[in-house]
Amino acid sequence: MTQPSLQQLEQHDAFIHRHIGPDKAQVEAMLTRLGVSSVDELIEKTVPAAIRKNDALDLADAVNEEEALAELKSLAAQNTIYRTFIGMGYHDTITPNVILRNVLENPGWYTAYTPYQPEIAQGRLEGLLNFQQMIMDLTGMELANASMLDEATAAAEAMAMCKRQAKRNKSGVFFVDADSHPQTIAVVKTRAEHFGFEIVVGDPEKDLPAELFGALLQYPGSTGAVRDLTDIIDRVHEAKGLVTVAADLMSLVALKAPGEMGADVVIGCNQRFGIPMGYGGPHAGFFAFREAYKRSAPGRIIGVSVDSKGRRALRMAMQTREQHIRREKANSNICTSQVLLAVMSAFYACYHGPDGLRTIAARIQRLADILATGLQKKGLALTHDNWFDTLTVATAGKRDEIYQRALDAEINLRKVGDDALGVSLHETASLQDVSDILDSFLGAAHGLDLAALDSEIAAKGPQGLPKSLLRESEFLTHPVFNSYHSETEMLRYLKTLESKDIALNHSMIPLGSCTMKLNATAEMIPVTWPEFGKLHPFAPADQARGYTEMFEQLQRMLAACTGYDAVSLQPNAGSQGEYAGLVAIKKYFEARGETQRDICLIPASAHGTNPASAMMVSMKVVVVACDKSGNVDTDDLKAKIEEHGDRIAALMVTYPSTHGVFEEGIREICDLVHDAGGQVYIDGANMNALIGVAAPGQFGGDVSHLNLHKTFCIPHGGGGPGMGPIAVGEHLKPYLAGHPVTGVPETDTANGTISAAPWGSASILPISWMYIRMMGRQGMKKATEMAILNANYVARCLSEDYSLLYTGSDGFIAHECLVDLRPLKEASGITEEDIAKRLMDFGFHAPTMSFPVAGTLMIEPTESESKEELDRFIEAMAIIRKEVEDVAGGRYSVEDNPLHNAPHTLEDVMAEQWPHSYSRDVAARPAAWLKEHKVWPASNRVDNVYGDRNLICSCPPIESYME
Ligand SMILES: *Cc1c(COP(=O)(O)O)cnc(C)c1O
Repeated sequence: MTQPSLQQLEQHDAFIHRHIGPDKAQVEAMLTRLGVSSVDELIEKTVPAAIRKNDALDLADAVNEEEALAELKSLAAQNTIYRTFIGMGYHDTITPNVILRNVLENPGWYTAYTPYQPEIAQGRLEGLLNFQQMIMDLTGMELANASMLDEATAAAEAMAMCKRQAKRNKSGVFFVDADSHPQTIAVVKTRAEHFGFEIVVGDPEKDLPAELFGALLQYPGSTGAVRDLTDIIDRVHEAKGLVTVAADLMSLVALKAPGEMGADVVIGCNQRFGIPMGYGGPHAGFFAFREAYKRSAPGRIIGVSVDSKGRRALRMAMQTREQHIRREKANSNICTSQVLLAVMSAFYACYHGPDGLRTIAARIQRLADILATGLQKKGLALTHDNWFDTLTVATAGKRDEIYQRALDAEINLRKVGDDALGVSLHETASLQDVSDILDSFLGAAHGLDLAALDSEIAAKGPQGLPKSLLRESEFLTHPVFNSYHSETEMLRYLKTLESKDIALNHSMIPLGSCTMKLNATAEMIPVTWPEFGKLHPFAPADQARGYTEMFEQLQRMLAACTGYDAVSLQPNAGSQGEYAGLVAIKKYFEARGETQRDICLIPASAHGTNPASAMMVSMKVVVVACDKSGNVDTDDLKAKIEEHGDRIAALMVTYPSTHGVFEEGIREICDLVHDAGGQVYIDGANMNALIGVAAPGQFGGDVSHLNLHKTFCIPHGGGGPGMGPIAVGEHLKPYLAGHPVTGVPETDTANGTISAAPWGSASILPISWMYIRMMGRQGMKKATEMAILNANYVARCLSEDYSLLYTGSDGFIAHECLVDLRPLKEASGITEEDIAKRLMDFGFHAPTMSFPVAGTLMIEPTESESKEELDRFIEAMAIIRKEVEDVAGGRYSVEDNPLHNAPHTLEDVMAEQWPHSYSRDVAARPAAWLKEHKVWPASNRVDNVYGDRNLICSCPPIESYME
């Protein structure tokens, strides 16, 4: 017998076989179960011939993990890391190692899903509650949400909320402090343009318009000025407008809180609380506000409620509102936010505590004071009399010389105006840095004695701040911020929280539409390389060559996967991609003089972000009906096109549909819209069923967003980060988002700016790069095929016990299936929620519930799950089905059965009394594998109604822990 070749011997470690769950034998078994002879036959039966792609993907061959890491490392090495004092909302920081390894690098945290199922998410919910408390304390506000996508979009959302809340104010004018970060001004202007607001940028002391609905002030200013905002805020209030303050979190440790000056909303970014700059993200934006605005605030809010046993439990407040993102009544389209980063910064605050933070802030302030004093002693003028950490220095005609001297010392400064330089000190800055900066400004022979300056300032007290602006109020007094200051304590706190949650390192998370696939370790490793992490987004372009090359490669890869011509990497979530895509469509019509096109057609089955995004660009949503198989009703589409004619701007359609089927008529649907002069937006969140088998850019789409945190392996992070780049056809390429600070190649700033950073959350893009590189041409297609196979296998097995809602014409589905529980509910009173909660007793996270159809579960297994894991899930569903039968048949009462009482906690089964008509074993170990290993749900079923009626979104007081 011939031996395998060397090449075949090397196959054993190819990544493709690690990413894809089922092995050869399992694939055979599943094909047999489905009654098809090959994967090709299955694809023929599922993907309509009219759209099927026959040529290979234009991607390179797969490489293994080591090769891909080496290749990416050589790209990363082209980035050069200078000491950077640019500021503008991004500062070097130290991620405490205990948080780096146990949270950021830990799949127990980064692979979790958004905490819609609170009983198995108490760990990250507590992390988020801590985040809210931290933000409320530092800003001096009554409530805070659990993160926004970045500071600039938080400012834009605040503008929109000010307009909603200033109800009797008819003005369309929003004032923006000229000393705001330029990226914030750009994002706010873009939003305002599409909402139809007028923006006035100026000096708030002098330029406040008489009529305005709101104002945005930066505190401290982008160039470092610190001023008391009280009078300005009063003046805006007198004009019946509301004030948003964009604040710097570290400054707030030392400064009077904006809430104490009368601010209505306070926004900002958590980056400098231990989150790497990452060339722009991901970081968590924050959003704090008055209690009165709680129903109008964007994003998610974590609240305290009780469970069915009356014990305290956390959950997302007003969750149903959130889950459907209010569709066309939306006031924001934000869905995925920045959970992982939000909890990291809250842990940073727990680890340092208020005293530690005061020390860090005081040290930054001292360095700034030493620098300021030294410069002043040598006759240089500072632009502002007050400062915290940022100085703007007048350079008297020598700016370029000084800037270059700094560059020669590998130091980045900020150019301000025509003849000034900015310096922002931060957590990692040292006295040596200050000395080197002084050398740049003054030349090496300046003769200043920094130690002497330090003693001088120590004796006199802080230099840059008047007493009236110093913080007097306490903050972070809650025990959670005062208990975990040793590494051992911190480590155990993190582990305790982690172990309350179910993430992908425990079991499959079969969430339809969310694609919870493997986030491979090799994909994650580059995220924490300093070459990617320590780069400032506004560093000179020649220091970011590695990033630039990686972006270009990734853009080509994504274009190949989608069949489009160009890709914008700026949108930092799917929702932002939708907005960016619609903005591009609007700009395209503007250029063609077709500004009357203001209608967005959206099928009834669409994800909530679709209509919400249309609202963001002031398009009118017209809903198109779906037929009984879940497809777009083409007759209704024709009627709507007939009715609205040349007012139609776009159709937003998800493909394969949110019902999990490849509808046959997609080409015809696209043609109908194009014939009416409209553009087709194909929501690409379901790309996992398409790559390599069909390309939206080829079957009629003009633009799609891709959720890299679904299809392209960026982990869900417990509810973010994500990335939502858009891919477009050639005709929309001229309208992709630009950036006012760091130019994005081939874009125009007049197109507007979508995110704070030019390439969104740049530092997680290596994850998708690694995935595509390691899967290659063959693997990407294979992943799609296996996703379709796994989904069809699960659907076929479940169909024995449950009714499936939709299938394609051959009886097959795409990559997800909808289980209809309404007939069971009718017969037994058992609800989809009972079944979702019962799955927790088996150690499973529930599938997507009641979306896109009420009373259903939507299951998407992905290609990464082996048949064994699928069979475990199927077994759990079969056992549950029998339990439903036992309720319907009267063996269990409607009030006392394992479903109604689910989930069961350790406390339940340890209780002396066991009052139920089924055993403890049935309650907690209903399947054999649970005897080996079990995750205990941390709480009984959480009462949403109670929590919403008694909204508490801060950490409960310590007394309440003493029961
Ligand atoms: C997830 C999803 C979105 C929204 O993406 P986010 O990143 O959460 O903003 C949009 N459409 C569909 C179909 C989705 O599944």
